[in-house]
Amino acid sequence: MAVDTAVVWFRRDLRLHDNEALLEAADAEELVPVYAFDPREYGERAFGGDDSFRFEKTGAHRARFRRESVVDLRERLRERDSELVVRHDTPERVVPAVAKVVDADEVHFATRPLPEEMGVENAVRRRLRGLDVTPRRHWTHTLYHLNDLPVEYTEISDTYTSFRKTVENRATVREPLPEPELPPAPVDAVGAGSVPSLDEIGPGEPPDDDRAAVAFDGGESAGLARLERYLFEEDRLREYKQTRNGLVGQGFSSKLSAWLNEGCLSPRRVRREVKRYERERVANDSTYWLLFELIWRDFFQFQFAKHGADFFRPGGIRGRDGIHWREDDAQFRRWAAGETGIPFVDAAMRELNRAGYQSNRARQNAASFLANNLRIDWRRGAAYYETQLVDYDPASNYGNWAYIAGVGNDNRDRYFNIVKQANKYDGDGEYVTHWIPELSEVPPRKVHEPWTMSEQEQAEHGVQLGIDYPEPMIDLEESYRKLR
Ligand SMILES: Cc1cc2nc3c(=O)[nH]c(=O)nc-3n(C[C@H](O)[C@H](O)[C@H](O)COP(=O)(O)OP(=O)(O)OC[C@H]3O[C@@H](n4cnc5c(N)ncnc54)[C@H](O)[C@@H]3O)c2cc1C
Repeated sequence: MAVDTAVVWFRRDLRLHDNEALLEAADAEELVPVYAFDPREYGERAFGGDDSFRFEKTGAHRARFRRESVVDLRERLRERDSELVVRHDTPERVVPAVAKVVDADEVHFATRPLPEEMGVENAVRRRLRGLDVTPRRHWTHTLYHLNDLPVEYTEISDTYTSFRKTVENRATVREPLPEPELPPAPVDAVGAGSVPSLDEIGPGEPPDDDRAAVAFDGGESAGLARLERYLFEEDRLREYKQTRNGLVGQGFSSKLSAWLNEGCLSPRRVRREVKRYERERVANDSTYWLLFELIWRDFFQFQFAKHGADFFRPGGIRGRDGIHWREDDAQFRRWAAGETGIPFVDAAMRELNRAGYQSNRARQNAASFLANNLRIDWRRGAAYYETQLVDYDPASNYGNWAYIAGVGNDNRDRYFNIVKQANKYDGDGEYVTHWIPELSEVPPRKVHEPWTMSEQEQAEHGVQLGIDYPEPMIDLEESYRKLR
């Protein structure tokens, strides 16, 4: 039976399509949608403990994306004669306060089984208890629904291939849910509130750099447009498997990660569009491969549900405590600033800082350099990515970092031979010169190892090492010898 009044508390599910929390809440006679910008998510982390390295938790790239996503959500709700109540305060203060004023019977929200997210959720639930409001939580962010896993999530395999085969063979992906008709939103008594500016939220405006691969405009509208563009307008999916290791430009991969992670796009909607593309255009290895990558995303989500905070330990879920992780502020800062003197790493880090994004290939190499060549605590690198990435997600980020550092879901050491990778994936040096203009005159055969140039060659190619561009901060070969 429909209740009188429901509240839907939006979290990282900033969309109207395929949103179980919204759909079920919309059964009520009246529905009040709410979003809270949690001050603890910005600035130096109020959440984390000593292990958190005290980086700004959400940097400007993601803060802008999120703010735009909330603005878009509010517009979409208004177009449907609804409204979004927006506050700049903790959810455990905002949500129960709104529920109380509108006399809600239920509060619906999406859950994410991650330590900080669960902490907030539990705080909200505790405060709702005194109000006689029923909390209703929903699972909205993965391709496979938690309840459809063939085995309990606590029993899933820690190996990707085995997890993938199990779900592909023994589970079905549900069809995306329809967007609901929205009941009236009686917000007068609470007041809709205004969306805080980026300065009020904390980090201010991110750099505006036209070298960035994509303008990541936050929101469901932009996310759906990106999906349509990548698949149908530009017809790129047919070659995704061949292009996905690219480094420069918008078209080599889907660039959907930020919209997926803030919940502007549902992975089931992406899958539905891939299936449509397969019917209308072509079905091949590439069309399958995008789904294969979305299962990687699911894998880390369910791995975090299973292992929880163990992922954040130095030795990771494998308890691999024999590695001595170094602290070296000076070296760390050079890595973070893109001043290591190893061009492939520097290009990646400059792209991260300026654009808030890196391709998967760039992430793997930059992470491997910090964790394996420098042997600096991998969690410090992951925390830096947490600040900078527009598409940061705790499970995907820490899961991938742990994997590369050899403490995650893999039994092998995963170090990358950076120069070999650079020559393979950036043979003409386009990526490194895109982000490191100091090297723009250096020919491709030298650009990934500028330290092999004589002084005369440096003069010929317009770069003096140690002046215009750094000398390499370590001897790469020597560092590989230690790892072998
Ligand atoms: C060190 C490191 C840190 C990372 N941190 C994040 C992160 O915080 N958030 C994030 O979404 N991805 C992360 N990734 C995974 C991957 O690099 C990005 O998802 C991808 O580069 C995003 O670009 P895209 O959307 O064009 O990807 P595409 O190649 O088009 O892939 C499609 C989608 O599949 C998913 N996906 C692809 N590869 C992976 C993967 N290895 N793990 C999990 N999901 C994947 C993403 O949702 C992505 O949008 C990280 C990888 C590494 C090596």
